[in-house]
This record gives sequence, C-alpha cells and structure tokens, in this order.
Amino acid sequence: MGNLYYVGSEDLAAYLVVTPKGNILINSNLKSSPPLIKASIEKLGFRYEDTKILLISHAHFDHCAGSAEVVRETGAQYMVMDGDVPVVESGGAKDFAYGKDPDDQYPPARVDRVLHDLDTVELGGTALTAHKTAGHTRGTTTWTLDEAEGGRTLHVVIVGSPNVNPGYKLVGNTVYPQIAADYARQFGVLKALACDIFLGAHGGYFGLAEKYARWKAGDEKAFIDPAGYKAYVADREKAFEAELQRQSVVRK
Ligand SMILES: [Zn+2]
Repeated sequence: MGNLYYVGSEDLAAYLVVTPKGNILINSNLKSSPPLIKASIEKLGFRYEDTKILLISHAHFDHCAGSAEVVRETGAQYMVMDGDVPVVESGGAKDFAYGKDPDDQYPPARVDRVLHDLDTVELGGTALTAHKTAGHTRGTTTWTLDEAEGGRTLHVVIVGSPNVNPGYKLVGNTVYPQIAADYARQFGVLKALACDIFLGAHGGYFGLAEKYARWKAGDEKAFIDPAGYKAYVADREKAFEAELQRQSVVRK
C-alpha cells in the first residue's frame, strides 16, 4: 500500500516504510528473525542497509529480540516509547511480567531516541505518529500513518497490542499499579483513531492470512477494513473488561 510493505512472517508482523531518504522498519521480531526480514526487504528490491530508523510495537521478545542485530547490521536509529525503554535496554529483564523468565530475555539494545505519546517520526517526507497505548507493556505503541491511494487519503493503524496476557494482574498489581487504568486509556485512544487500513503487531489481530489470500487473488482493497478494526477493538475491550471484572470479584 503506497510506500508501506509487509516484511514479517506469517504471524509476526514487520513493516517497511520506504522513503527517498532511507527506510523505517517497524519490529525486529525474534532473535532469529533479522535474516528473514532482510531477505524479505531484498526480495522487494530494497536495501536492508538503507534501514535508517527501527521502531517496535512493544517490548516483548517476539517483536524486539532482533533489534540489537538490526541496529548492528544497518546502523539504524532505535526509537522506542518511554515506558518500554528500560525493558529493551535490559534485554527484557525489566519487564513487569516476564522480567524473571529466562525464555523471555533477548540481547539488550540501546535506544537512540526516547519517544513520548503523540511524537512524530519523520523520514524522507513520511511521518508516523506514535500513540502510547500502554497496558500490555508500559510502552506499547500503536503507529499511524497516512497513505495516498487513488486520489484519497487512507489512514493506516498498526495496533501495538490490546491483549491481556494469561497471568496478567489487573487488580492489586504492585509492580505496575496503573495497569488497568492504562488499558482503559488505551481503548479510548484506539476507539478515537480513524482507520482504513487495519494492521497490527501480529497477523492474527487483523486476519492477515485471509486478507493476503484475497489480495493475491486480485482484491486490491483486501486490507481496507474500517469495520474490522472497530469490531476488533470492541472485542478486545470486552475481553479486558471481563478479565478486570473476574479479578475484581476474586479479590472481594
Ligand atoms: Zn506482547
């Protein structure tokens, strides 16, 4: 779509924004992913070495474990939302939920620019907006950008993660006391975003496999899905509220 390309795997999404001044990569995925991402970029006819900026959806190993390698290989500037900075710089050790789990750790990567809510990342005439949508992690980021297509502007939303993972403590969380308030705020943010092209950190969020099949069959509008976005956000908010309710009742 315009200058936006998919360079991830079947479920772990990675996106490349191509500009005349170099490219922006969103998500480095697993520790083993950079060679696959590089191959995808080259298959599209672009240069991996032209990656100038690296962004992430959130600081979990399936979206940021490859960052140290991408930065080392490309020299890209690593830009991360404030709440996730200590986590990526500690290789996951400072994650509020998984910090003590060795399976969730990854090579630490130094952050070049600390992002704050509604900051803009600009390169070669393309601007992305960083919406802080915390809860899943303290710095979960939903990225938005606009693409011109056939004389109209399409609003792209790349959802960071609205999901409450198994084991997440929403009530009485002493490590992350404002977690429930952050999720509630996140749903307010997501509901207020204008969305034509619905994307996210995992292909499963937005039905990548099914939409990709339609797109390959010639449906150029397969990824235009404002209704699917609204339904997804509403469904995830309901799931959050149900889990909050469940945990609140258990505590009483
Ligand atoms: Zn996650």
